[in-house]
Amino acid sequence: ITVNWRGQTIDITIPFTDAASTENAIHCFCVMLYLGINQDQIRARMKLLNPVAMRLEMKSGINNSSVINDSYSSDLSSLRIALDFMSQQKQHARRTVILSDILQSGRDDHDLYREVAGLLQQHKVNRLIGIGASISKSQHVFSENKSLEVVFFDEVASFKKAFPALQFRDETVLIKGARIFALEGIDQLLQQKVHQTVLEINLTAIVHNLNEYRKILSPATKVMAMVKAFSYGSGSFEISNLLQFYKTDYLAVAYADEGVALRKAGIGLPIMVMNTDNAGFDVLVEYHLEPNLYSFEIFNQFSDYLRARNLDNFPVHLEMETGMNRLGFGETDLESLAKALNGNSLLRIRSVFSHLAASEDPAFDAFTSEQFSRFNRMAAAIREVVGYPFLKHISNTAGVSRHAGIQLDMVRLGIGLYGIDNGMKPVGHLREVSTLKSTVAQIKHLAKSDTVGYGRRGRLTRDSVIATVRLGYADGYSRKMGNGRGQMIVGGKRAPVVGSICMDMTMIDITDIPGVSVGDEVIVFGAALPVQELAVWAETIPYEILTGISQRVKRVYFEE
Ligand SMILES: *Cc1c(COP(=O)(O)O)cnc(C)c1O
Repeated sequence: ITVNWRGQTIDITIPFTDAASTENAIHCFCVMLYLGINQDQIRARMKLLNPVAMRLEMKSGINNSSVINDSYSSDLSSLRIALDFMSQQKQHARRTVILSDILQSGRDDHDLYREVAGLLQQHKVNRLIGIGASISKSQHVFSENKSLEVVFFDEVASFKKAFPALQFRDETVLIKGARIFALEGIDQLLQQKVHQTVLEINLTAIVHNLNEYRKILSPATKVMAMVKAFSYGSGSFEISNLLQFYKTDYLAVAYADEGVALRKAGIGLPIMVMNTDNAGFDVLVEYHLEPNLYSFEIFNQFSDYLRARNLDNFPVHLEMETGMNRLGFGETDLESLAKALNGNSLLRIRSVFSHLAASEDPAFDAFTSEQFSRFNRMAAAIREVVGYPFLKHISNTAGVSRHAGIQLDMVRLGIGLYGIDNGMKPVGHLREVSTLKSTVAQIKHLAKSDTVGYGRRGRLTRDSVIATVRLGYADGYSRKMGNGRGQMIVGGKRAPVVGSICMDMTMIDITDIPGVSVGDEVIVFGAALPVQELAVWAETIPYEILTGISQRVKRVYFEE
């Protein structure tokens, strides 16, 4: 935004889109102006602002509903934040708000609830369930909004009695209210009873990680977020929604279908499809997805397709081969490519890019520089023939954290957003995003002579207590973790895996961890047990662990 102040024009960036954080950011900006801090510094510091911590959590509820529980506070500004959060989550068209009395506002009830009614209308809420004496008394102010269904209860107990008749289904439900109303009980009614394995995704940590990278990006460099493979296993539109909300410039997916799913969930950001395939041309056009053209074959097929449909100026990306040897035009293709692009009005090049093969490895830093120079030569040659500017990009996560000089116009952030990048200095600046959790199904007290699991491979060396955990290789927990290699955390301590991993279950040794009971939570990975460590046990990389968590594992999203 541009601000006029004492005859000067100042450009600043507010790194938020929700009303509450924007207002806070404006306060910070005004204070810095007042204190006479110089404008470059103000500009730099504005970008470092973190959103105010919230306690919002989204879980799967009964009958395919989603539940956002914010039953900790009941003031108007936290209601506004919660409604913003609800609006960001677009998986259900229908929205219900369960709201208690708003206490100690110091305002006239009529006024107060009129404002609440306005907020509900603005956020397209379909149903209000009011709980408490004062909101019930003010129910007439809500009746002006004809598209809002309303139900009121004096207290939680009467709500609970009516619960079955209220029919929660295929909707997002926001629970918002003062602690004294004990709305937690409602949360429990609405939540699916989960004794299953869940992957918890900390949305606040993703935003934190995004901001950590923004700190080391030059102001003009754009961010393309890589959300391929269900956002590295952590979900699809939920993560893209968040990234869109925090003003990422571009998204990239591997296949057109992934892009279609994002569009259907209401994602409007430009989306690059890396692996363009001629079977998917119709959906690219229908859903405004931008293909990567990486070979003459796909270039010509797509051009023919556009010509046949009478389409022109279609946004595309061109991938250059500089050393990865995967997809892309090589340097020797440039002459023919230039011919194909000369005067070509079918295609509009949005970006020209390449991919680094070993940006994370110091042993290959010279190779990385070579890739960069080759890329620049190739992009310059294309720029010359087409005669208009386009974005240039080559850096992935480790490229950003380890090679400051190659940011160009845009970077493609993948694994770093999800909290993993050994190149990020100082180490530990990124936050763990996902926690894989399961529960104990049964506990057995076994003698030294017993064995555990298939093939009797789990041999005991002492009388042992063994817990069976509800997670197996069908959930993405590699069989390589078997027989003492892998560990899980239960009761705050590490327990080694005993015997082979089964399809749906794993046995762990809890002999040295007293007090564990059936139903207890087991951490498979998370802040206390990093994915990197599991990757070593499974002789793979964190990317494979994260993207391998099977789709039957429920994803649960929360904000701190
Ligand atoms: C996956 C991918 C990235 C992201 O890589 P990270 O190491 O996860 O940051 C960037 N560019 C391309 C072309 C990719 O396929």
